[in-house]
Amino acid sequence: MLHLNLNALERTGTLQLRAACPAADFVLGGRGPELSEPVSVTLTARSMATGQVMVQGRMSTTLAQVCRRCLEPVAQAFALPVRFVFIPDDEYGCRDDGEVHTFPAHLAELDIAGPLREEFALAAPLYAECRPDCRGLCPACGSNRNTARCDCSSPDVDARWEKLRALTNH
Ligand SMILES: [Zn+2]
Ligand SMILES: [Zn+2]
Repeated sequence: MLHLNLNALERTGTLQLRAACPAADFVLGGRGPELSEPVSVTLTARSMATGQVMVQGRMSTTLAQVCRRCLEPVAQAFALPVRFVFIPDDEYGCRDDGEVHTFPAHLAELDIAGPLREEFALAAPLYAECRPDCRGLCPACGSNRNTARCDCSSPDVDARWEKLRALTNH
């Protein structure tokens, strides 16, 4: 996945990271959106005088969602600015608090993928709409009201209730 070489960073002070991370690494066990392309990651890592490592940049991908009203597929662009501070943990003790992550001092490589996955899980939208004025499915016949005109009298009346009313009105 995505590793930051700390020895190289110490030598140069700044490192650019560019990667296309496999979509499968960001799928949240069926609880979040599917992705239709890899997650492209652009990051700049800076070595701070205090031994901390500052990483910032952005991640972007395309989500393969389903409209929650009409159930049509929706491709949704997703981009998120990210910022992490990694602190050697013999300095501050162990803590993991939002953008602040600790790592064992004298580590050779930082794993950036884990924090990126956390950010994605927090920020990824749980549902999509194909457009703000999507008219959804007819509750009576199930046809897509964006593309089809059905003959159901009222969008709010369920066909089963109509049948029941016809039977009891005799
Ligand atoms: Zn829709
Ligand atoms: Zn209908």
